[in-house]
Amino acid sequence: MIDLRSDTVTKPTKRMREAAFDAEVGDDVYGEDPTVNKLEALAADMLGKEAAMFVTSGTQGNQIAVLTHCKPGDEVLLEENAHLFLYEGASMSALAGVQPRTIRGEKGAMSPVDVAAAIRPEDIHFPETGLICIENTHNKAGGAVVPLENMKMIADVARDNGIPVHLDGARLFNAVVASGVSVKDFAAQADTVQFCLSKGLGAPVGSILAGSADFIARARKWRKRLGGGLRQAGIIAAPGIVALTEMVDRLAEDHELAKVLARGLGEFRGLEIENDVDTNIVLVNVKQAGYTSEAFLAKLKEHKILAVPFGPHTVRFVTNLNVTADDIDHVLNEMRYIV
Ligand SMILES: *Cc1c(COP(=O)(O)O)cnc(C)c1O
Repeated sequence: MIDLRSDTVTKPTKRMREAAFDAEVGDDVYGEDPTVNKLEALAADMLGKEAAMFVTSGTQGNQIAVLTHCKPGDEVLLEENAHLFLYEGASMSALAGVQPRTIRGEKGAMSPVDVAAAIRPEDIHFPETGLICIENTHNKAGGAVVPLENMKMIADVARDNGIPVHLDGARLFNAVVASGVSVKDFAAQADTVQFCLSKGLGAPVGSILAGSADFIARARKWRKRLGGGLRQAGIIAAPGIVALTEMVDRLAEDHELAKVLARGLGEFRGLEIENDVDTNIVLVNVKQAGYTSEAFLAKLKEHKILAVPFGPHTVRFVTNLNVTADDIDHVLNEMRYIV
């Protein structure tokens, strides 16, 4: 099977398995796991934040951010197709007691004017705007890089209104590699940042939540409340260190393969590429080829290719560590029998 469903399907590299095997460990709830501490210090340093915390998943990192920034009854502003809104089981409402308010974006980027207009004035009837979330790269927008300038303008609006900004940077390093903007410059536009070690970077488990030392101290309590306090977690943090020190630059290979895939698929009559392919995600509309996304995926599977539905007629392909140039050639060859 050529698995293009997601960059989460990657298996840890040999170096990661060795790092896990050799990891020095301790009880992380006591702050005594040297490998977790090393990963957290490394991540904070790379992002230019005071502190960082290892969490079990991107969803957990995002939810801890919402819980720590907000109080029940607050409103959170975010793009209408944000992962935090679409794909986290309404957990900001279920867990933090806040309501989301969505803003229509352009390629995943909200207009700072729209963000400013959505901030609530003081009124006994209104919720208080507790948080603004930005997603970069933007998953539903096809891995689009949200430009640094756009983030800066939203950060200015947020600062003027005394509202914190959280960056859902599950694929932040894809944005860094694709744009040439430093990770510190992106991270500086937000009070807190979440990024996934377990996507394109290839680690088996985990995400990082970073912010001020005071914020992370409070976030640790929320992680514990959610059952995310781990013990000898160095075993899973060690591959995360390999991910950060050895795997960032190779994301460029995923981006290159995604472009080759998009170019090739775009030549088939009936297939329409819906996104600009900034990074490792290709969105293909299959309607003109006479398929629904589900029927197209079933057909792909007969040819030993996996992807995921991303709308009634949209299919998402994600290049990743386990996919080679030969695999992409193979996909393009097989496509002749499908459309
Ligand atoms: C994958 C993803 C998450 C959630 O990460 P998990 O580790 O799957 O919980 C959050 N935000 C975005 C943009 C993502 O792509």
